[in-house]
Amino acid sequence: MPRILVIGSSNTDMVVKTARFPQPGETIIGGDFYLFPGGKGANQAVAAARIGGMVDLVAKVGNDVFGGQAVEGFVHEGINVEYVQTDPALASGVALITVNAEGENEIVVAPGANAALSPADLDLANAAFEAADLILMQLETPIETVLYAAQKAHALGKPFVLNPAPAQVLPDELYPLLSLITPNETEAALLTGLSLDDDASLPRVAEALLSKGVANVIITLGAKGAYFHNADAYFQVAAPVVTAVDTTAAGDVFNGALVVALAEGLDWLPAIDFACRAGAIAVTRMGAQASAPYKEELMP
Ligand code: ADP
Repeated sequence: MPRILVIGSSNTDMVVKTARFPQPGETIIGGDFYLFPGGKGANQAVAAARIGGMVDLVAKVGNDVFGGQAVEGFVHEGINVEYVQTDPALASGVALITVNAEGENEIVVAPGANAALSPADLDLANAAFEAADLILMQLETPIETVLYAAQKAHALGKPFVLNPAPAQVLPDELYPLLSLITPNETEAALLTGLSLDDDASLPRVAEALLSKGVANVIITLGAKGAYFHNADAYFQVAAPVVTAVDTTAAGDVFNGALVVALAEGLDWLPAIDFACRAGAIAVTRMGAQASAPYKEELMP
């Protein structure tokens, strides 16, 4: 079993469906309420565990009912929670999500304990760094913690994969520490300052990322699949055609599946094809972690 260290956020998504969004100062009566476990770090950890990875998760929750439920969920998925800390002074991360009749959403995230995941917390997980075949991170925790994790991985000679979501400009010194970066189209455009309005611009945008020092680039393209580019090769992999029901966490499931396939030793093409099939299944189901497929569902 490949051993994956996922470092990142854990949130609880609180979703209310409503006919329309309220105006400032207005109260409206909405429809059904849903509570989903979420947060990009936790979503990717669950996806990797369901695909067959042995997952260590480094995250921080608050001392409240949401943090407790999140940790129970991780245990249920077979994730090692030894490095999930509960901060007694902070609230757990939550996302308040309103979805209108058109399916559009408005989201406010209160990061809570996620914002307190510090470089010092990573030093408490040295054993997991040493045991990992691969380390995966995203951007819902402080950027200095991302940089420190990448430096630790580099010092140990471990592959470090960054899913740069939600989009934000990255410090230059981070790029040479990355084995792989996996932006979606919006994130790739923001990171490079280049526009990505047609597939012909993919090589240019990927090369701009490579020139910053990252070794390999995968740009995820939603229903169009994913694009790979490194110094030796570039190609696009198509995603299976599916009827999308809820695209939440498609990227998280893609990344979780991808890192397990890579850590198992698969080559780029079969690993990306596997991840595309996992992401496509996720969009046919509701929810974030709930939509992640199991390995048996991905056998050709
Ligand atoms: P994000 O969720 O981060 O915005 P994408 O939308 O690019 O990322 O989706 C990630 C992956 O999930 C894609 O590369 C693809 O494999 C799969 N995927 C996403 N949307 C669809 C879709 N509508 N049909 C099939 N596969 C999809």
